[in-house]
Amino acid sequence: MQDNLIFGADASSYRASEPLPSWQRQLSQAIRDPAELCRRLQLPDTWQVGASAGHALFETCVPEAFLRRIKPNQPDDPLLRQVLPLGDETLQTPGYVNDPLDEVQQRPARGVIHKYAGRVLLIASPNCAINCRYCFRRHFPYADNSPSRAQWQEAFDYLQADPSIREVILSGGDPLAANDRHLAWLVTQLEQIPHLKRLRIHSRLPIVIPDRVDQALLDWLEASRLQTVMVLHANHANEIDQAVRAACQRLQGAGVTLLNQSVLLRGVNDSTEALAALSEQLFDAGVLPYYLHVLDPVQGAAHFNVPDAEARQLITTLRDELPGFLMPRLVREIPGEASKTPLV
Ligand code: SF4
Repeated sequence: MQDNLIFGADASSYRASEPLPSWQRQLSQAIRDPAELCRRLQLPDTWQVGASAGHALFETCVPEAFLRRIKPNQPDDPLLRQVLPLGDETLQTPGYVNDPLDEVQQRPARGVIHKYAGRVLLIASPNCAINCRYCFRRHFPYADNSPSRAQWQEAFDYLQADPSIREVILSGGDPLAANDRHLAWLVTQLEQIPHLKRLRIHSRLPIVIPDRVDQALLDWLEASRLQTVMVLHANHANEIDQAVRAACQRLQGAGVTLLNQSVLLRGVNDSTEALAALSEQLFDAGVLPYYLHVLDPVQGAAHFNVPDAEARQLITTLRDELPGFLMPRLVREIPGEASKTPLV
């Protein structure tokens, strides 16, 4: 197989003789022009200058399936805030950096990030189905961390040599932006390492394009000997519609445990009402809230920050309203720490 077939995140990387899966077609048709995004959502022209400036730093990507959940002519829509580039992204904010988690220092092999005992993260795809403006990897050097099939051997050797590693986390980008042929191959290689027990997949794709959860994906998930956990990423209740609920049901049918991680974001979910509604909607979809991350200080995203004191107060109030199993853990990731740091 040629290397350019491995990630398969866009139409050009699929074999011409094969019909393109629906999700890949949708991804290839995603809105990538900030002016078009503004037009489609009937935003006043004044938004276009900032959108272009932000886009120049981190390009726009919004698939139709996500766009449909955004209310037109509402610049404050909580889903729009996550994807609309803004002029604020050009501001240099002290303390905000390109690699807030110091991940570039934690790469023992190409495509591998090893931060915590017992688990290792693989950059299974450099691509995403959506570009979230607050993303802590918005400056990540994916070009240096996208192994070809032959280059993956270095990662497998690393995993094989360390029997303390029980769990592999497929990350990215979004690992499910890779095509299923590649993912099935990757997981088959991992299954041959006897001390690996669990496969964790961090993906926003079942939320963004629910059709990503198709039979080809379910086939390799069901076939794996590894216990599989999928950590989804939704930040607001409006992201969870009937199509997302159906996708979650299909994943559960394949034996996948579903969790969700969110980021606490100014203007998106910085109220107890928004956080409670998100937990309720997740549970209705069969997903347990797992983490609520405070913003990682990545350059270009400071306008999303919610101060720690306010974040703690939100969680304290939320605890009075929700049962314990609907409470996400409020955490910060601090480079060099042995695990995520709880804030309350
Ligand atoms: S899907 Fe995840 S990795 Fe991709 S841009 Fe959004 S937050 Fe970042």
